[in-house]
Amino acid sequence: MTNPLYDTLFGRYAGKTTPFLHLPDGSTVTHDDFLSMAARYAHVFRSAGVAPGDRLAVQIEKSPQALAIYAACVQSGIVFLPLNTAYTATEISYFVENSGAKMLICDSANKTALTPIAQTARAQLETLDADGTGSLSTQAANQPSSFDTVTRGPDDLAAFLYTSGTTGRSKGAMLSQQNLLSNAETLVDYWNFTDQDVLLHALPIFHTHGLFVASNITLLAGGSMIFMGKFNLDQIIEQMPRATTMMGVPTFYTRLLDDARFTKSLSQHMRLFISGSAPLLADTHIQFEQRTGHRILERYGMTETNMNTSNPYDGERRAGTVGMPLPGVELKITDAATGDTLPDGEIGQIEVRGPNVFQGYWQMPEKTAEELRADGFFITGDLGVIDADGYVQIVGRNKDLIISGGFNIYPKEVELVLDEQPGVLESAVVGVPHPDFGESVVGFLVASDETGPDLDAISKTVSDSLARFKHPKKLIVLPELPRNTMGKVQKNLLRKEYDQLFAKQ
Ligand code: AMP
Repeated sequence: MTNPLYDTLFGRYAGKTTPFLHLPDGSTVTHDDFLSMAARYAHVFRSAGVAPGDRLAVQIEKSPQALAIYAACVQSGIVFLPLNTAYTATEISYFVENSGAKMLICDSANKTALTPIAQTARAQLETLDADGTGSLSTQAANQPSSFDTVTRGPDDLAAFLYTSGTTGRSKGAMLSQQNLLSNAETLVDYWNFTDQDVLLHALPIFHTHGLFVASNITLLAGGSMIFMGKFNLDQIIEQMPRATTMMGVPTFYTRLLDDARFTKSLSQHMRLFISGSAPLLADTHIQFEQRTGHRILERYGMTETNMNTSNPYDGERRAGTVGMPLPGVELKITDAATGDTLPDGEIGQIEVRGPNVFQGYWQMPEKTAEELRADGFFITGDLGVIDADGYVQIVGRNKDLIISGGFNIYPKEVELVLDEQPGVLESAVVGVPHPDFGESVVGFLVASDETGPDLDAISKTVSDSLARFKHPKKLIVLPELPRNTMGKVQKNLLRKEYDQLFAKQ
């Protein structure tokens, strides 16, 4: 194969007018339309001097054109670098400079702010708007609709995805063709995707979930996607009858459950609902099953590794767990201090190894060496435990582990108790500095009804069920938990919130 990722995902559709993207306005982009669009972009990139191996950064709204840029990069051997649309110009300047991107494509609304940044970084700046117009499309219009695919090998880089970087500078995770392809192949098989599948796609495409998991799988299986700009409840409900599968972050599912129009009959024909990127509460899983009869299939992955584990397609999908390691992926739980493998049932750091694991962080050899062991195991930064049946449960990020008076406290354990309390919809537990104990536990709660939780009653119940050192020293009710676009609770913001409320008094 000339270019395994391009040939397998895209090239096989040359000349095929089968549907690939169904847009909410009723129009369809066929595979052939899509490939022609990508080929025209590839010509623009080549004419601009963006060579194989160079990085091309994009910060644009989701659209078929935006996805075609990914295909164009793969076809021309360029490393695709998608950026979160929420990033500010200052943040973008870091990514463009750090990656040495040769071209930056942005929304025309941001052009003025990004022009000096692109100049400093010597990156060519082009625009592409959500409606598909912009300087890139203008240039592409005159280009040929086919492009000679650039030869690439399985170990050549296909993409850089920057980590979210809540504890330090974002790192560019280098993903090879084989990293992406092997994972897509495994998942198509594991989740039984076929050319009959129509995936409801409301995730962003700057993140591994919407970009690689959703799009690569659909392309590999030969199915199509209902491609929506954003998660929009009305649109999801309107489009669901045309879909067979949906991938979402947990908030998609809680929002669906909050809407009375989301009924059993609306979802009965669906083959599969998949959740990931943040923990799906066991309660959501159960409520979803009660409402629809479907058990959401939860899986676990990350930017650096693609997908690592999944609940089974045919076997038991166990609420509150992320299932078992995928075929070809090894997973072990280790002691953070010694690196020794721990027995099943003990909590430790999750390490994974397999063809899905990235090639390292761009120009950060020390960081890479800290997290990617010489034997190929990647230290994920997640803490977890494997139960007697082999199901993996995630108990939180290592950096969110609370150490109080020398004892380890796993936020999840306290959160599970808080979630159970009357009047509590959900909770998040963080550690805050404490003069004697090092850290102490603070619980943030979201009310499930107008009355809200009775904090004294909760403190009492918690003291009956958890050891004293795990008791939240404060309980704070918030209207909602701060979440990023992928539905992850931003615990760093909760710590700041606490600082503002109390520490400075
Ligand atoms: P990202 O690199 O942005 O995809 O974030 C990856 C992190 O999201 C993982 O390291 C986990 O902490 C978290 N994550 C992903 N999927 C799940 C899941 N199903 N349950 C709990 N946490 C998850």
